[in-house]
Amino acid sequence: MSKLAYKRVLLKLSGEALMGDEDYGIDPKVIHRLAAEVVEALNAGCEIAVVIGGGNIFRGAGLAAGGMDRVTGDQMGMLATVINALAMQDAVEKLGAKARVMSAIKINDVCEDFIRRRAVRHLEKGRVVIFAAGTGSPYFTTDSGAALRAIEINADLLLKATKVDGVYDKDPKKFDDAVRFETLTYDETIARKLQVMDTAAFALARDSDLPLRIFDMDQPGVLLRILQGEPIGTLVQN
Ligand code: UDP
Repeated sequence: MSKLAYKRVLLKLSGEALMGDEDYGIDPKVIHRLAAEVVEALNAGCEIAVVIGGGNIFRGAGLAAGGMDRVTGDQMGMLATVINALAMQDAVEKLGAKARVMSAIKINDVCEDFIRRRAVRHLEKGRVVIFAAGTGSPYFTTDSGAALRAIEINADLLLKATKVDGVYDKDPKKFDDAVRFETLTYDETIARKLQVMDTAAFALARDSDLPLRIFDMDQPGVLLRILQGEPIGTLVQN
């Protein structure tokens, strides 16, 4: 087995990644496949934390557009991420690995509170740690939650799985001649006005010198290949 290039990583999955071909909720086959990728990385010796969004269930901005109070909508969005995290915990444990959900909102009957030292301990013990409820505050997204937690646990790399296999100079769905960047600096990303994460998440990652790899999680085995150092997708760093 090839040596790992990264010891501890945080993987950010969007809620929509769990839907598969459905337009809402969680497709059990899809979450099983994603969990299998995570467990493969874990079994290779990587310490792995996961953040999952909630967009497959609720997003605060969408609820607010429909007339709901924004903060209430965001709280519903954060609770949606807890549902997804519990599903991922179950899928990881079905594969024989150990997992712990740690929530930024106190919800002790279903999962642990986020306590940084405890999270690090879980990782050291070989458990997959799934951070739920984003940052715990409204007006943020789970991209920000992912960047924040990655920094707090001293992750070597933040991995953002998307539907596109990296960052392009223009929309590859609209332009045949779009070119994918293999690497970008944070400053180049700003200068070229490339949107790789929301602004708060981007600023956190840049200011804490956290490298970010954007990739498409659809190909089986891709997570482990990245952890073994294959330059898949686009790497953004200072
Ligand atoms: N959310 C929030 N604070 C956070 C993280 C998330 O209020 O720190 C809410 C927000 O309403 C967001 C929703 O939870 O829209 C779901 O998260 P996100 O949109 O990031 O999910 P994704 O797009 O990754 O599926």
